[in-house]
Amino acid sequence: MRIGLFWFDRDLRLHDHPALSKAAREVDYLLCVYVDDTRLSEPSRFVDTGSSNHRKQFLNEGLNDLYESLAQLGQRLHTFSGRPEKIIEALVNLYGVSDVYRSQPSGHYEIRYAEELLNNCPTLRINEVASSTLLNSADLPFSLDCFPETFSKFRRAVEPLKINPPEATVKRLPPPPVLSADDEASMAVFKLANSMALASPKSGIPNDAPDSTPNTTIATGGEKAGLSHLREYFKTSYASLYKEQRNDLSAWSHSTKFSLWLAQGSISVREIVDQLHNYERREGANESTYWIVFELLWREFFFWHARVYGARLFAFKGVKNKRPLTSAYAERIMRWTKGTTPFPLVNALMNELATTGYMSNRGRQIAASCLIHELSVDWRFGAAYFEQQLIDYDVGSNWGNWQYIAGVGTDTRDVRRFNIEKQTQTYDPDGTYRRRWLPEREVFSSPHTLHSVDAADWPIA
Ligand SMILES: Cc1cc2nc3c(=O)[nH]c(=O)nc-3n(C[C@H](O)[C@H](O)[C@H](O)COP(=O)(O)OP(=O)(O)OC[C@H]3O[C@@H](n4cnc5c(N)ncnc54)[C@H](O)[C@@H]3O)c2cc1C
Repeated sequence: MRIGLFWFDRDLRLHDHPALSKAAREVDYLLCVYVDDTRLSEPSRFVDTGSSNHRKQFLNEGLNDLYESLAQLGQRLHTFSGRPEKIIEALVNLYGVSDVYRSQPSGHYEIRYAEELLNNCPTLRINEVASSTLLNSADLPFSLDCFPETFSKFRRAVEPLKINPPEATVKRLPPPPVLSADDEASMAVFKLANSMALASPKSGIPNDAPDSTPNTTIATGGEKAGLSHLREYFKTSYASLYKEQRNDLSAWSHSTKFSLWLAQGSISVREIVDQLHNYERREGANESTYWIVFELLWREFFFWHARVYGARLFAFKGVKNKRPLTSAYAERIMRWTKGTTPFPLVNALMNELATTGYMSNRGRQIAASCLIHELSVDWRFGAAYFEQQLIDYDVGSNWGNWQYIAGVGTDTRDVRRFNIEKQTQTYDPDGTYRRRWLPEREVFSSPHTLHSVDAADWPIA
């Protein structure tokens, strides 16, 4: 009798889920587990609290949705909070689990947790299956030791490859394992000490925020909402206009917003590409439809890049090992996060982020460039703040993009500095976007100046 444990993380779905399908095929009993890592709620060197309420709510919605879907298959999602590797270890011992299954992670720490688990449970089999990417590592035309140093080289190498179609939705799962009365009592005590309370389910489809109204809840998490968003998106003609419109700051519909559900794994990236190809067959392919795949390849690049570079993704000198001329200026960091810099466009962007948990790609580039190149702040403060705020936070894409703009990443250019005045003229010439997120008197000129430089700055190695 084989008992498996499925370790859910950023893969909260049943469709196109190779890791879950493998578990379903291989074991007689399956325990389904999600662990909320409490380390992420602790203050760090760069931010004083954990995830924002937007992030927590979206995650909760994703977990609730998965809970319901698993229940329909006779399964139960057990949610805990604590240190994932410790909780999983305790469950492995309590249930006599022989196999742990999970989606292949990209983050350094997530990879390490599994290594630690294996050290403590040497007979355990840990099955990591690629479930978040377009390609498996075996499909890549290079070994990860020879990972292309730039996105362009990566793209040219992988673009000709065939992307496998999505796998069938998991429709059947082995039942949960049964415990003896004694072990049941131990499990009850364990749950009491480590359980994660899920807020009650919130129904509804993604909230297509009207373009002129600030709306604090921009979308609903979970597989049902994600798939519904995907279907609705391809019913419109937005995909055919994507390339021209994607840099627009104001309109919700001008970029796909797939990142929200991709980050929690409640839609699969192969499902997106499959539906995009259906759209192209129906409506015709053009440069815009191609460009959606082009952008998804950036995501793919940053996934493998994070696996290759490990902890260097979080290092001040980045993967380039180049020391930036920036530091930790407390007042500037505070002004940037609060949207009270001398730059109205940046203030509007930061207000949007704090209010909704989302910011467009162009907005992220401008805000990041401002922090690093105008305010001379250590890029890691910005990356950590984005990690705290963004609903679509993804370790590889966030820290990889920040390094790129700081000039310590994989870019061949030295730094990516965005001229804020020029960006304002190009992307918000009449102030429509700024008006949405700033009081009228602050739309064209900021009343905020940087009065002082901190008395002491403290470069952190
Ligand atoms: C400083 C900075 C931090 C970022 N942090 C994150 C993050 O934590 N999580 C995240 O998913 N993206 C991040 N991005 C990338 C990008 O901004 C978002 O993916 C995008 O804005 C999400 O909106 P969308 O789905 O409408 O994008 P679209 O423009 O519709 O793009 C389609 C998809 O392509 C992918 N994509 C697009 N641009 C990028 C990019 N530059 N890098 C990687 N993937 C991309 C995303 O999966 C996105 O959903 C960051 C970019 C910058 C400059």
